[in-house]
Amino acid sequence: MVRWIKTAYMICRQILIKNAFVIAGPERFFPDGFVYLKDGAVASSGRSSNCPMIRNATVIDACGRVVLPGFINPHMHLYGQFAKGMSVPRMASFRDILEKLWWKLDTALTEEDIYYSALLGLIESVRSGVTTVFDHHASYGSISGSLGLVADAFLKTGVRGSLCFEVSDRHGGKKRDEAVRENASFLESCRRHVKMNRRYPLRGMVGLHASMTLSDHTLAESRREMDSFGVGAHIHVAEDVDDRGAVRRLCNEGILRGGTIAAHCVHINRSDLDLLKRSGAFVVHNPQSNLNNAVGVAPFIDMHRKGIPVGIGTDGMSASIAGDVKLASVLHKITMSLRGGGRAAISAGFAETKRSVMEVNPAIASEMFGMRLGVLKKGAAADVIISDYIPQTPVTDLNLWAHMLYGVMNLPVRTTICAGKVLMKDFEMKTVDEEKIILGARKLAKRLWDRI
Ligand SMILES: [Zn+2]
Repeated sequence: MVRWIKTAYMICRQILIKNAFVIAGPERFFPDGFVYLKDGAVASSGRSSNCPMIRNATVIDACGRVVLPGFINPHMHLYGQFAKGMSVPRMASFRDILEKLWWKLDTALTEEDIYYSALLGLIESVRSGVTTVFDHHASYGSISGSLGLVADAFLKTGVRGSLCFEVSDRHGGKKRDEAVRENASFLESCRRHVKMNRRYPLRGMVGLHASMTLSDHTLAESRREMDSFGVGAHIHVAEDVDDRGAVRRLCNEGILRGGTIAAHCVHINRSDLDLLKRSGAFVVHNPQSNLNNAVGVAPFIDMHRKGIPVGIGTDGMSASIAGDVKLASVLHKITMSLRGGGRAAISAGFAETKRSVMEVNPAIASEMFGMRLGVLKKGAAADVIISDYIPQTPVTDLNLWAHMLYGVMNLPVRTTICAGKVLMKDFEMKTVDEEKIILGARKLAKRLWDRI
């Protein structure tokens, strides 16, 4: 039984955020500004002196704090939340990490675990100002209806989401077919919802694990599903050395193309960079996960230089994107330096992380949802956050990203609004009973740990 279809989508109200330091986009800011939200969209934003007279709006005084578009996490695994603190056997390779941790965990998840795990990850998302999550789900012990449970958690918390089930041949043909059907069934439901309401906060993609666990037959079937629903795939690409050659194969099979998200792309060569560029696919860089799994460092700077649209995600290491963004901003100084980058190495990563976070992540989400996301201008989605940061030094066009990196990313988010709905106000969750969920989740996690 897919429960999420019955869940109501709440209609938003008018909200006026005043006395704010508004960062409206990559090059646009108003030190004394306002943002006016109406019917789930930005009605206007700008200098306080231009703020229109508005009646009946809920007024939020930002008290000089930074107000900016909600963050976007283009690669996340909500199903992995119960792994926090779980004891794991000794790992000798990336394959070990998959087999002894993630595949074991995902197969052991019950329906209740799936729902609670997603709730936990989404609460952390709201708390860190992430208003759009591209989730990559796996639960091979409970496949049918699992995306409905994840969707329930999205609708309950109010976060915008793109969902998919990671299809793989690793458990045989029967389970693979069930996973393919789960994607199709969710995509069909989404299609119906979006037809009725184009602002519906959920979308679907064709989820695929990685080239190394997918047969030609499965890739062909998935491509047909992509064609049928007009969506891209969400897939891990060349994350480990075992998956080298994936870019060429997935291009040949028509999986890497416009609308597809290729997470990682660590083990790629020059011709892969050309293929990625030509494919039109988005790449998502997840540096914390890559370092944690000791798989290597993706050629993030090369991808930017090539003009490949590369965003930054978390791969489930965290729901907050701040850690990965800050790491990406410094990590590539070392990789460029080791390559003999000289003085250019010192500045490597600064402009690139800005582009990834403020342009590419919004582009990925805007394409998915068919509306402007990641910017505070008229007509864009009313996804807005209030950071606890009040700029302490002068802000200019040239140092705006430095204030984001060393100011906004260092301090908590106090208020999160998505689609015009207040999800958290002054650090208090408004859509869910956080304490109750955590208590419930702790019991479920203990039982899950005992089972595996
Ligand atoms: Zn991943």
